[in-house]
Amino acid sequence: MELYDTVIIGGGPAGLSAGIYAARAQLKLVLLEKLAPGGQIAVTELVENYPGFPDGVMGAELASQMEAQARKFALPIESAEVRSVTVEGDIKIVKTDKAEYRARTLIVASGTNPRRLGIPGEMKYLGRGVSTCATCDAPLYRGRTVAVVGGGDSAIQEALFIAKFVDKCYVIHRRDELRAQKILQDRALAEPKIEFVWNSTVPRIVGDEGVTEVRVTNKLTGDESGLTVDGVFIFVGLLPNIDFLDGMIEADEKGFLLADQNMETNIPGIYAAGDVRSKILRQVATAVSDGATAAFDLEKHLD
Ligand code: NAP
Repeated sequence: MELYDTVIIGGGPAGLSAGIYAARAQLKLVLLEKLAPGGQIAVTELVENYPGFPDGVMGAELASQMEAQARKFALPIESAEVRSVTVEGDIKIVKTDKAEYRARTLIVASGTNPRRLGIPGEMKYLGRGVSTCATCDAPLYRGRTVAVVGGGDSAIQEALFIAKFVDKCYVIHRRDELRAQKILQDRALAEPKIEFVWNSTVPRIVGDEGVTEVRVTNKLTGDESGLTVDGVFIFVGLLPNIDFLDGMIEADEKGFLLADQNMETNIPGIYAAGDVRSKILRQVATAVSDGATAAFDLEKHLD
């Protein structure tokens, strides 16, 4: 069986950046991606804080330019879902739904998944009024009323996007202060279509064929009430995509992979890059940096 210099798991900005560096270094490699390359930015409307684009850049456009750049350097990208990773001596074995790969090094750039609230109605109405992707679903709610749950960058950025389509967007947050960046907060507070519902949690989502109501509990009074909505967008944080690792790599208390300053994990030759890594800032800029660093360091490891 072929032995790769490296296998990259994940085709978001971290994986593509690692791929560009490693392909330019003429390593024998493959990038495995279960969906389309691009990761989270492929479903982000506008990326405003990635240097080089004074007017911002559409997320899908940035994703496709990154992919085009990687393909220009002949990075092989295969569509496959990774099921497991094992280590035999110095060799890393990656099993996907289609094939098995053996490599001397591995870059885990598998990103994150949206966290769920775990409340009644959430899974029942997923795709029928409950969504975790505003870029995908906000246009379906033109002229209607929706609720966003969460108070971080995702919730506020996506609420601003959703407000372009809907008549009204409630933002239900469990505290009276947002976690999101100040610039996003200011924009959301100035958006007349957004109404904040502070100090509140969502105990359940109610509907018939689709969502009709979101139940809201005021944490200060304990009172429960209902908001009539056509859809609920949930942005309450991210969970790392690490199931296929079966706990083999050291992680922080939330499951994000621990790596040193060269992105190497506790297992020599296995690197973590991008949102899946334990870090203080999850941005395109830090993801591409992680990917580049990992690709650079693994060359030393191969030597
Ligand atoms: P996050 O920063 O972890 O925020 C999650 C939000 O959901 C918080 O406001 C949190 O409330 C709330 N929450 C968590 N669990 C909850 C529950 N069970 N019930 C109700 N509310 C709950 O997640 P994120 O917004 O998805 O962002 C993830 C990372 O991506 C961050 O590093 C962020 O900076 C980055 N990001 C950046 C941008 C950008 O730069 N434009 C855009 C999107 C994401 P508390 O505040 O009370 O904890």
